[in-house]
Amino acid sequence: MAYVDEVYDRVVAQNPAQPEFHQAVKEVLGTLRPAIEEKEDEYRKEALLERLTTPERVILFRVPWVDDKGQVQVNNGYRVQFNSAIGPYKGGLRFHPSVTLGTLKFLGFEQTFKNSLTGLPMGGGKGGSDFDPKGKSDREVMAFCQSFMDELYRHIGADEDVPAGDIGVGGREIGYLFGEYKRLTGRYEGVLTGKGLSYGGSLARTQATGYGLIYFLDAMLKENGRSIEGQTIVISGAGNVATYAIEKAEQLGGKVVTCSDSTGWIYDPDGIDVPTLKLVKEQHRARLTEYHELRPNSVYHAHRKGDGTPGVWTTKCDIACPCATQNELELDDAKALVENGCYCVAEGANMPTTLEATQYIQGHGLLFSPGKASNAGGVATSGLEMSQNSERLSWTFDEVDQKLHGIMNNIFRNVADTAKKYGREGDYVTGANIAGFVKVADAMQAQGIV
Ligand code: NDP
Repeated sequence: MAYVDEVYDRVVAQNPAQPEFHQAVKEVLGTLRPAIEEKEDEYRKEALLERLTTPERVILFRVPWVDDKGQVQVNNGYRVQFNSAIGPYKGGLRFHPSVTLGTLKFLGFEQTFKNSLTGLPMGGGKGGSDFDPKGKSDREVMAFCQSFMDELYRHIGADEDVPAGDIGVGGREIGYLFGEYKRLTGRYEGVLTGKGLSYGGSLARTQATGYGLIYFLDAMLKENGRSIEGQTIVISGAGNVATYAIEKAEQLGGKVVTCSDSTGWIYDPDGIDVPTLKLVKEQHRARLTEYHELRPNSVYHAHRKGDGTPGVWTTKCDIACPCATQNELELDDAKALVENGCYCVAEGANMPTTLEATQYIQGHGLLFSPGKASNAGGVATSGLEMSQNSERLSWTFDEVDQKLHGIMNNIFRNVADTAKKYGREGDYVTGANIAGFVKVADAMQAQGIV
């Protein structure tokens, strides 16, 4: 049996009931074969893949807090410190009721490769809770964040582990988490990224993942003789990644006609109006029905995954960018996109496309970029925030944006060249996985059996 298959079977046996983690490992190991075969005996002897697929440390803790009615609530808290071969653990915190240990292992594993691709010295980690910030008062969110940090602070630090935001964790949550860390430790340090501008945050961090996605898309299109200008683009999600992907795509002359949340989606024939979207989502924290009320020319479709109603991927487009959550684009969605003439899928979320859908898309000759490459702009800019904190300096928006643009172009070049080197030209999934892997594997080998 090939080494990668042995290791995959081991991961499934040792991590029961964690299907998303199995899926991420399967997708990565499946594409690493040509790189593994070059050094299979060495890697096998050193159990390199077994170590790569096992987190260095998992921290699991109780998060008790008091709601506005005086009732004590209890949530699960997690931090998965996956791999520190190339730098301190780095990766976001997700607060969403669907969060399990398996979700965070998948995300931490993916993060290791993504961080490697950025070229910056950051290891892989991820954390979060099954807490749902939706519908909670600011005081309740603060109480939860403080209790979460009351345990987490022992395990993080500017040179150890630097968490950031993710689904359900934006500027408000990062502020409460940072305040509690400072109170507990007495240290004012760059222990979290995504901070507010008044206390050590970086300009352009808010925009970075969405902008970075579009910079990557632009590079990928140019390489293939196309351009964003004049293209119709379908985007899912209405959160941080989606909002700034829409903004940048429209700045570059694309027309984005959709956005979505977990209860429905908008089709706006005039192009999504970003100020309206920001008002609804960032200020009012409201549903997309409000967008429709403010832009009556748009159409609102109530939709929940699996309820039988048409989803966002049934919209005719040239380019599709899934920017909401994992496994949101399934085989039927891929078929609808291909049938409607879409020629490119660029992932903004983490693993939003199922394995079957990815294979269908690639098999039909569409351009496809995996999230770990095309959404790496967020963590890359977090890396730039860490540099600014260490230097005690703040760079201008343009400085950070230019660095981000350069990093996304470099990631695309590295991914495309690696794919070609291993005989898979145009297969950016393989290119990203191998390019991310080689750097981490080299560092692990150099550091011995730890
Ligand atoms: P946000 O919480 O800001 O937004 C998430 C969006 O996706 C919301 O519109 C939300 O709708 C929707 N959504 C979330 N879960 C589901 C679900 N189960 N079904 C349908 N819709 C859902 O998160 P981000 O924009 O920050 O993150 C989006 C994706 O991008 C995630 O996969 C994240 O891991 C990834 N990512 C984020 C980075 C960042 O810098 N923020 C960096 C790299 C990757 P609703 O409000 O109704 O729940």
